[in-house]
This record gives sequence, C-alpha cells and structure tokens, in this order.
Amino acid sequence: MEAVRCYLELIRSRPQLNAFLNVYETEALERAAVLDLQRQQGQPLGKLHGVVVGLKDVISYKDHPLSAASKILGNFTAVYNATAVDKLLAEGAIIIGRQNCDEFAMGSSNENSSLGVVRNAIDESRVPGGSSGGSAVAVQADLCMISLGSDTGGSVRQPADFCGVVGLKPTYGRVSRYGLIAYASSFDQIGIFAKTVEDAALTLEVIAGADDFDSTVSAREVPAYTTLARENPEKKYKIAYFKEALEHPGLDPAIRETIESFIKKLTDQGHTVKAVDFELLEHVVPTYYVLTTAEASSNLSRFDGVRYGYRADIAGGDLTELYKASRSQGFGKEVQRRIMLGTFVLSAGYFDAYFTKAQQVRQLLSQRTQAIFAEFDAIISPTVPATAFKIGEKSNDPVEMFLADIYTVFANLVGIPGISLPLFQHPNGLPFGLQVMTSHFDEVSLLRLSRQLTAIAG
Ligand code: GLN
Repeated sequence: MEAVRCYLELIRSRPQLNAFLNVYETEALERAAVLDLQRQQGQPLGKLHGVVVGLKDVISYKDHPLSAASKILGNFTAVYNATAVDKLLAEGAIIIGRQNCDEFAMGSSNENSSLGVVRNAIDESRVPGGSSGGSAVAVQADLCMISLGSDTGGSVRQPADFCGVVGLKPTYGRVSRYGLIAYASSFDQIGIFAKTVEDAALTLEVIAGADDFDSTVSAREVPAYTTLARENPEKKYKIAYFKEALEHPGLDPAIRETIESFIKKLTDQGHTVKAVDFELLEHVVPTYYVLTTAEASSNLSRFDGVRYGYRADIAGGDLTELYKASRSQGFGKEVQRRIMLGTFVLSAGYFDAYFTKAQQVRQLLSQRTQAIFAEFDAIISPTVPATAFKIGEKSNDPVEMFLADIYTVFANLVGIPGISLPLFQHPNGLPFGLQVMTSHFDEVSLLRLSRQLTAIAG
C-alpha cells in the first residue's frame, strides 16, 4: 500500500511528462490493501506480489479505456484482458495506469500520439523515443516499477535507449499477442521496461508461454529465467557485431567510440568479439517499412467508424462516405501515411515489385542470421544511432525518423530476441544503450550475457 501511494505521489508530481493517460488510483490502492492482507495472513504470494505495473495504451485491460492513442478508438473500453495482463494479475501485480504512446504504435518519438507528446524525464525538451514513450518514461522517472510496451520495430528498445532503462523484446511468439492491438502481426511482440535485467527476467517468466487465444505463440516451456539468468556468470561468449553498423555514416561518433572501446574491454575480459560483414544492413529499414505498412493497412481496415470508436457525423451520404470521413478524421497523419503506403505496396500493379521483394529480403535476412548464430552466441550493436533529440526536431522528416530504427528493426524482421541495456552516457549528458541479440528462444543466454555486460560496464 505504501509503495502504491508513493508511486501515485510521484505520478502527480510530474504531470508535464504526460506518461500516463489514466491513473487507476482507487483501484490500485484497493488491490494493494487486498495484497497486504494476503501477506499478513501468510498466504502464498505471487511472483510479482505488489509489483506496480503500467500498460502501454495498446494492451487490453478489461473495463478500462483502450485507444492506441488514437482518436479513432475514441472512448473505447476494453472488453477482455490481454493474456499478458491476466498473467501479471495472477502473480499479484498491481496495474497502476494506461500509458501514452505513438498512435497505433507507429513512430519513434511519441510525437504521433493524439493525446499529446511525452517528455523525456532527463530533459523535458527532448523526446523519450517511441512508440512506447510513456512506458519508458514511467520507469525512467519512477512512476511505476515495470511497464509493458510493444515492439514491432524497436518500440521498446529505442525508448529504453533514450531514457536510460532496460528494454526487452522477446522472441516473436514467446509472449502471447492476445489483447495487443495489432500493428504488424508478423512483427509485433509485447516487451518489458525495467530498471534492471533481473526485473525484466522475472516479468518475462510471468508473461511468456502458450496461449490458446494466440495461434502464433510458442508452446515451448517457459524456462525459470530469473534463476537461470544468474547461472554461469563467468562464461566467455562469442559475440559478433555488424561492420556496417559501426561504420554507418549516420552513427553519432561518440556512440561509435564508446561501443568500440567497450568491445575492447570485452576482448580484454576473454570474450571473443568479431566484426562480420552484413551487407544487407542498408535494406533492413526499407524492407521493414514495406512489410509493416502492408500488414498495418490490413489490420487497421477494421476501424471503419461502424464497429467501434469514432464515427464521423456526416449528413446524408452513403456507407463509403461514412468510412472515408470517419477514417480521415479519426486517424492521424502518420497512420494515414502508413495505411496508404501499405495499400500501395499491396496493390496489383506493385505487389511483386515491393511486397514480394521485401518478403524475399526477409527470407535472406533469416538465412544470414542463422549462419551467424551457427558461429556466435550473440550480436551486439548500438540500439539507436543518436541520443534523444529535441521535440519537433525530426517531426517533419519521416524518412529521417525511419532511419532511427536502423539497428532495431532487424530483430523483428527475423524474430529474434533483443534487449537494450542502459550502459553508457554520451558527452552531451544523455544516456544511450547497447543492444544485444541472441538466437530464437535463447532468452536465457540473452539475460545471462546482459548481466555480465552490465557488470563489465560498471
Ligand atoms: N519506429 C518504428 C515504427 O514506427 C517501430 C514501431 C514499433 O516498434 N511499434 O514503425
């Protein structure tokens, strides 16, 4: 109860961050009282007993508002719990509120929310990253202990990098997507923001696993991530990095130098770190944007002004006009741009040139990735090419904004797990992260190595 009060107080003290869209104050306090009683009575306690969690506004929490930060969902109320939410609650977590994000999780700065920008708590004139900006800031500024976000192309890892917290995207299919508003279904995955690798491991242990409501989720058993992550702390790893990633002209020189000297440190400690050629790097962003916009154009077709949410008030006109007006008024600029792009790449005349081609590149990326993991345990890279930028600085240049995703979209294209670890500080005073990726379903190695890297960075 005291912990919840303390978080509520902190949330109230920084409203300008705009991290939370709703705070479930009374409910959270009531639940804390019930949980306190359980403890006093010596009842068995859940793994997340009393842990205060926030949810990105794309994760369904029954009887609570859910809008994907979009006007088109208006005052929609969730009618069921996401499986991840059920699992959190079953282990004693307390859900404290709904967190701001980019509309339909599309963006890298949280400037695309119809409910206002979110501010980076370390410098309020800067963006927190996106699309799970509110969730990252909430953990950064101690407004909750853990946040659940979603990561389609970096939306957990990139804001974690900008805010100096841990951001974990599990393997595609590790966590059920039931109750997660779909952006690009073959990329989307629920991810975790936490202050430490251990907290992320524990949360993953709770939310991962089979689910009858999601046919794409894996039935593999969920390892005891928390315990396993602590084992083998001295293991020496074989680590790859992409030569093209560190040589990329868009990479901030201070970030490059820091990562290079960290690589030297790792080698000094007995790890093997090698550069591998990855000539496909320049194709990952275009491939990602062709495929995700295609999937989005189909996923978002259900928001038609009839079934749920916002409906345009038109006098007369036919059904098509109602659709048009509701969608033009209900969706923001970025979402409209992506629906149009996605519809274009799927259209009869261009399908092969764009969509089929991008699928082929995705296949090549998977093959190349398998070959790398046959030789290496992990791949490391910067998480983002630069530190958090000023609000408004990039909002008029979508292509430049898309390039910020160059290091993160790869893991979603091939489905592997990735984490951003808050290891470094830029000479400009802002935090930045190291991204670590391992092969499919090898979260155990990812978490173990993450603990070691955190210790080495000091
Ligand atoms: N910035 C990327 C995009 O806008 C990633 C989004 C995400 O992971 N949800 O698509």
